Amino acid sequence: MGKIKKIGVLTSGGDSPGMNAAIRAVVRAGIFNGLEVYGIRHGYKGLVNNHIKRLKSYSVSNIIQRGGTILKTARCKDFLTKEGRKQAYNNIKENELDAIIVIGGDGTFTGATVFAKEYNIPIIGLPGTIDNDLYGTDFTIGYDTALNTVIEAVDKIRDTASAHNRLFFVEVMGRDAGFIALRSAISCGAEAVLIPEIETHAEDLLDYLEDGFTRKKSSGIIIVAEGDQSGGAFEIAKKIEKDFINYDVRVTILGHIQRGGSPTAFDRVTASTLGVAAVKALLGGEKNIMVGLQNNSVAYVPLEKAIKHHKTIKKSLLDLVKVLNI
Ligand code: ATP
Repeated sequence: MGKIKKIGVLTSGGDSPGMNAAIRAVVRAGIFNGLEVYGIRHGYKGLVNNHIKRLKSYSVSNIIQRGGTILKTARCKDFLTKEGRKQAYNNIKENELDAIIVIGGDGTFTGATVFAKEYNIPIIGLPGTIDNDLYGTDFTIGYDTALNTVIEAVDKIRDTASAHNRLFFVEVMGRDAGFIALRSAISCGAEAVLIPEIETHAEDLLDYLEDGFTRKKSSGIIIVAEGDQSGGAFEIAKKIEKDFINYDVRVTILGHIQRGGSPTAFDRVTASTLGVAAVKALLGGEKNIMVGLQNNSVAYVPLEKAIKHHKTIKKSLLDLVKVLNI
C-alpha cells in the first residue's frame, strides 16, 4: 500500500447520536492532514452502488449538534455476498480510495473484517452504536446521549408513577446487552433492572417487590432491557400483575426515541477525539483496527478482537441497584 491520499467514510447499521460529530472529525482531520475525504452514502450500500462524493470542510459545517447521520445509514444485504463486496471493491478502485473509515457497531465491523480479508484495503472502525456493547472500548459514540434520553423520560414517568402509586415497567433498547438498562437504572434510582445477561425469575422479582411494598414503597420503576430473557416489559409485567395486586402496573416502551436527539457533550468529545485518532491511525500505517477509548485514552483494538470478544457488564453496578433500593 502506498501513501494514503484519499479516504472514504461511511456510517452503517443502527444510527447513533454523535455519528455526525464523528464524520465531521474525520473530514476535518483528513483535510488538515492534506487528504481528500469522500463520503459514502447509506453505509455499505453506497460502496456497492457507488454513491461516493467528495466532502469539503464546509460539507460538515453545522452538524456537530445534530443526531442521525448526514451520510445516512442502512443495512446492506448485497455486502453479505461475495459479488456485492467485489462490486464495492471495484468502486473503491474507481474512486481511487486508499482507505476507508467505517462508523458503526458489531455488524459493521464484521463486514469490515470479512472485506479486509478479501481485499487489500486498510479499514479503521469507529464504535458508533447506542448499545455500548463493543469489546475494547469503554464507551461507544451515542451511548451517553441514549442514556440521557432514557433518564429524562423515566424522570417524567416517575412523577406520574408516584402520583398514582403505580409500578412502571419501562423497556429500553438492548437486544443482546444490558448496558443502557443498567446505567439508566442507577441514574433513575430504579427499584430493579432486568437485563439479557442475567436470567430473570419472576418469583424473585415478586418477592423483592413485596418486600419493598411492606416497607411502604408506594410506587416503583423497573427498567427492562428489550432482550431480557423474560420476553420484554409486557411479558414480565403480565406475570407480576397476576400475582401482585398491591400495585397498579403499567408498561412504557421507550423505543426509537433513544436513537435520536442532539448528542451530549460527552458523545461530541468522544466522536471528535476518535474521528481525529482514526485519521492519525491511518497515516501511521494502521489498518483493520477499531479506535476506541480505554481509561480515557485512545486505544487501538484489532477489529477481529472487537467482534469476537464479549464485553461483560460490571457486576458491581448491578449490586449498586440493590444496595440503593433498600
Ligand atoms: P447496531 O449495533 O446499531 O445494530 P451494526 O453495525 O451492528 O449496528 P448491522 O445491521 O448488524 O449493524 O450491520 C451493518 C451492516 O454490516 C449489514 O447490513 C451488512 O451490510 C454488514 N455486515 C454485517 N455482517 C456481515 C458479514 N458477516 N459479512 C459482510 N457484511 C456484513
